[in-house]
Amino acid sequence: MPVIDVAANLHRVRQEIDDACAAAGREPSEVRLLPVSKTHPPELLTAAYDAGARLLGENRVQEAAEKAEHFATERPDLRWAMIGHLQTNKARQVAGFADEFHALDSLKIARALHRALHEEDRTLDVFVQVNSSAEPQKFGLAPEEVPDVVGELAELSTLRVRGLMTVAVQRDAGTGDAPVAACFGRMVELRDALPEHLCGRELSMGMSGDLALAIAHGATTVRVGQAVFGARDSR
Ligand SMILES: *Cc1c(COP(=O)(O)O)cnc(C)c1O
Repeated sequence: MPVIDVAANLHRVRQEIDDACAAAGREPSEVRLLPVSKTHPPELLTAAYDAGARLLGENRVQEAAEKAEHFATERPDLRWAMIGHLQTNKARQVAGFADEFHALDSLKIARALHRALHEEDRTLDVFVQVNSSAEPQKFGLAPEEVPDVVGELAELSTLRVRGLMTVAVQRDAGTGDAPVAACFGRMVELRDALPEHLCGRELSMGMSGDLALAIAHGATTVRVGQAVFGARDSR
């Protein structure tokens, strides 16, 4: 089994982020690295923590809840961002431990989260997921649905809308960067068209394969799995 040096990987990815910021004329402090630890065992998460990570991304509720419980006593300052589509019947569980939710894609899930958060006396930072590539297999709201949803979210006091999130189209050697860049460009346009008091200015976009391009377009959080923790079994 290959040994994964999580600390070295985090350092290298951070360097890549800083270089992308320099190239784009942006401040490195404007871009946050969210390491995505889904599928990986607690040892690798501990290595990330020891290297300074205090927020980790997960996409399956059961797995995330178990990890959160595992780390709660010894590393209580480790926080959790849920980055995957959520079913309504899991909202209560997520409301109990998550600090951020990057895949808000319906009012139904928003209301379920709000009810649970209200009872727990907690709040949740959320990013509204947009299907910027219009691929049918992708989660997220169509861009034209976003203004109405964001308007309704203002009624839900436990949810703090920090901005928008997307998973861009997969880069293809044949077509190059243009289709990916078009996804990121759509996100910027959409964000800029939304009133600031309803939707934060943040953009959660960019992954291991497209983070520099996302930063060039204004990403404020990049969600990076493989480049930090190594390859996953397919998912
Ligand atoms: C898994 C995942 C990531 C990280 O992807 P990598 O290619 O491993 O960097 C980012 N965002 C979401 C929504 C994911 O599910």
